[in-house]
Amino acid sequence: MTGLAPYAANPALTRGRLHEEAAPATRNHFQRDRDRIIHSGAFRRLEYKTQVFINHEGDLFRTRLTHSLEVAQIGRAIARNLNLHEDLIEAVALAHDLGHTPFGHAGQDQLNECMREYGGFEHNLQSLRVVDHLEHRYAEFDGLNLTFEVREGILKHCSLPNARLLGEVGERFLNKQQPSLEAQVANFADEIAYNNHDVDDGLRSGLITIEQLAEVQMFAEQFALVKEQYPALAGRRLIHEIVRRMIHILVTDLCEQSRRNIAEHAPKTLDDIRTLPPLIGFSPVIDQQQLELKRFLRTNLYRHYQVNRMTSKARRIIAELFNAFLADPGLLPDDYQTSNRDEQPRVIADYIAGMTDRYAIREHQRLFSISE
Ligand code: MG
Repeated sequence: MTGLAPYAANPALTRGRLHEEAAPATRNHFQRDRDRIIHSGAFRRLEYKTQVFINHEGDLFRTRLTHSLEVAQIGRAIARNLNLHEDLIEAVALAHDLGHTPFGHAGQDQLNECMREYGGFEHNLQSLRVVDHLEHRYAEFDGLNLTFEVREGILKHCSLPNARLLGEVGERFLNKQQPSLEAQVANFADEIAYNNHDVDDGLRSGLITIEQLAEVQMFAEQFALVKEQYPALAGRRLIHEIVRRMIHILVTDLCEQSRRNIAEHAPKTLDDIRTLPPLIGFSPVIDQQQLELKRFLRTNLYRHYQVNRMTSKARRIIAELFNAFLADPGLLPDDYQTSNRDEQPRVIADYIAGMTDRYAIREHQRLFSISE
């Protein structure tokens, strides 16, 4: 990759994989990782997992698959702008939600509650578990055997007790160090993607309105500019013009501020990046504005009563599935039965986390509906 910054991650200098493998012949290590992610079963299941809206509510809403593609697109644009490794960011972006449960955050919160006595459930950690253990595709190893750099990017957060169990990839949480700039970018690309597509989906669903969004400064400013330039513009085109401009502002600001941070700290290598403060970030003004947008979405969309109704149904499905399987592991498919009783709750969590929305609903019917 030409023009790569000296502190960018370099696939030729990877810290390697859990199981040793020959270097790929026609691709770099990060490309190989990205390709393995795209070919995984967990990646295909993202198509039928909810972001905010339950999958069958409409064909136009985001799913975790389209969300992940948008994160990759935004991440790649930032990578090129900052001379970071595009393939690494793409791999992290495409893998970052592989461990998500069905039914979005409602599913993750409920599964975490069900698993409280058994080590909890955390979707970042589950994404790592998917790529390290749960995909069974290769003859020589479980998981996808990805490089350290992609794995550390996937593990965005981690509690200290869990970090201690993870070996090398958990160390930075214990040493209070940063991941690569590529991992930092993927994280911000995630935020930029979901804040904006949730505005778009929220408006499309009718749960929030343009009038309400006028209280959000970033939206209001772009709304005024678009209206000034195109006074007659309305409907979907108006919304899309505003959303694309908000994405542009966030991406541009992130690149400019990060470039200033990098110039100030003058890192020379990836090892420098690890010991410096986080260098990828928004300017203070834009940071405040995007926090305001986030707060708006939390109050008005994620906690809208119609979303709450879905959330409550989703939580009930997850809890009932978990409790039924835990009470009688004989109800589980053969692959998920284990002779080690201590492992059983974790295996149940793996099974449930791997379900798509509609699979979870069907499985619930199969267990609880008399007519099935
Ligand atoms: Mg995400």
